[in-house]
Amino acid sequence: MSSSRVSADIPATPERSDFIREIVAADVREGRVSDVVTRFPPEPNGYLHIGHPKSIALNFGIAQEFGGRCHLRFDDTNPIKEEQEYIDSIQEDIRWLGFEWGEHLYFASDYFHQLYDWALYLIKAGKAYVDDLSADEIREYRGTLTEPGKNSPWRDRSIEENLDLFERMRAGEFPDGARVLRAKIDMASPNINMRDPVLYRILHATHPRTGDEWCIYPLYDFAHGQSDAIEGVTHSLCTLEFEDHRPLYDWLIENLPVPSRPRQYEFSRLNFTYTVLSKRFLRRLVSEGHVRGWDDPRMPTLAALRRRGFPPEGLRNFLDIVGLGGKGTSAAEIEMLEHEVRDVLNRRAPRRFAVLRPLKLVIDNYPEAQVEEMEAVNNPEDPSAGTRKVPFARELWIERDDFMENPPSKFFRLAPGREVRLRYAYLVTCTDVVKDASDEIVELRCTYDPETHGGDAPDGRRPKATLHWLSSEHAVPAEVRLYDRLFTRPDPGADGDLFADLNPDSETVREECLVEPELAGLPIGETVQFERLGYFCPDPDSTPGRLVFNRTLGLRDTWARLQAQSRRP
Ligand code: ATP
Ligand code: MG
Repeated sequence: MSSSRVSADIPATPERSDFIREIVAADVREGRVSDVVTRFPPEPNGYLHIGHPKSIALNFGIAQEFGGRCHLRFDDTNPIKEEQEYIDSIQEDIRWLGFEWGEHLYFASDYFHQLYDWALYLIKAGKAYVDDLSADEIREYRGTLTEPGKNSPWRDRSIEENLDLFERMRAGEFPDGARVLRAKIDMASPNINMRDPVLYRILHATHPRTGDEWCIYPLYDFAHGQSDAIEGVTHSLCTLEFEDHRPLYDWLIENLPVPSRPRQYEFSRLNFTYTVLSKRFLRRLVSEGHVRGWDDPRMPTLAALRRRGFPPEGLRNFLDIVGLGGKGTSAAEIEMLEHEVRDVLNRRAPRRFAVLRPLKLVIDNYPEAQVEEMEAVNNPEDPSAGTRKVPFARELWIERDDFMENPPSKFFRLAPGREVRLRYAYLVTCTDVVKDASDEIVELRCTYDPETHGGDAPDGRRPKATLHWLSSEHAVPAEVRLYDRLFTRPDPGADGDLFADLNPDSETVREECLVEPELAGLPIGETVQFERLGYFCPDPDSTPGRLVFNRTLGLRDTWARLQAQSRRP
């Protein structure tokens, strides 16, 4: 049975190798495991962020490469923070990334009855007890890294009393926090996780799936490994912060009548410069209005990257290149991810014209009513993308930044008396500058050379600059949103205050932009290149009467520069 699969456009790459794949391969080769089963276990307490794909691609990728299956299991043991909105968004994000769990969608809450029975099993075996200490007292009794803990006065209750109290916890007789169920392991263990960890707590809260059926909920450590065992997961892959929990994971598996024997392996978390991936912090950015929502294009969530026009292939390529990494916690440079995204977009994105800060240009010697259809290349990287027609007329828009009345020596674009190329159209020369009462430039007058149709002069003269343009009669208005990094420094919060490092200029909205008529019908989810300006995609805020575009990324690839810098002695 292997109904979980990976989209057809992801090539199987058997050359992928890392320490976890080596463990899986050895288990298969030596017959310890026949069907490889992995799982991706998100807690539905927020949206997925750009660290999660490392775990997603690893779990789904291994299942694919070894002919096994990968489950999607929601780790929904904390009803206070979990919501259906997150359950839905997580599924959408994983599919967008290119992975599919098929029929293997599970919830830890599916196993609440089984987990409860196993809690009773531990009590009956004398391996779990109900503790009346408060949360603070439990912390106090737990000891520290250097000092052993001490036994709770309630540790030696009889099995009968423990059964009675645990059943009454479940029946709702006690308020939140009054009692907990703890495993009876070893309060002197050098591993704090083994000092009688809490297995169940009382929480009178409505659960998104089980409603008010339960008022006690299992903790992560009790739910996770047992859920793995129920599902027949062979390799339970998690991030390094769970390394110290592995002895507890194994203890529970060994002391319960579970149907299979999963094993946990840990790998390092993926982090990025200029980024914070803590869901708690991301939730605050949303709830306190620092961004417009979880999918605000400045957020480091997958929903935001999708809205911003990132192709999932760029993320997957990035993950293939960085691999699992060692046990270090250093952050990946965000420029490297952007480099992979640009690489995909450069190959795929159709080129279009758009003007972000329009300046009018009138060609005095061009016939008044004439409109020509100029043939423009859709993608120089992909001849099969063909060409399109762009209307050209006497009145045009060009980019305000492409003109200077008194240009410094390095400015080669349009200036009084200077000739430039209008891409795919003609060479034009600026003859006059029109200003308003406040001395603001409002219009340029030009002449064109009719001999240069298509943009090339028969006499071979070559202007130093080529500009993009739009016919003012045909251009379509649009709002364009430009994004900069959400944080001003690569290590946000290093001085102790994340909010102080938020970039006040992370978003610039330009409402007076103009785009090629062709772009009015561009579907959400498609990214194009506005020539010379960057990659852009339509935002879901677009309405038939008002186009809105997001800048995915600018064109300048800073990754290469960073690489060159780091190679310097
Ligand atoms: P937070 O602690 O911010 O709530 P989390 O790690 O608890 O995040 P989960 O929803 O529990 O988020 O994560 C689901 C899975 O994704 C876990 O197995 C976790 O180890 C993995 N994961 C989370 N963040 C990263 C990351 N930055 N890099 C790699 N894997 C990650
Ligand atoms: Mg978690």
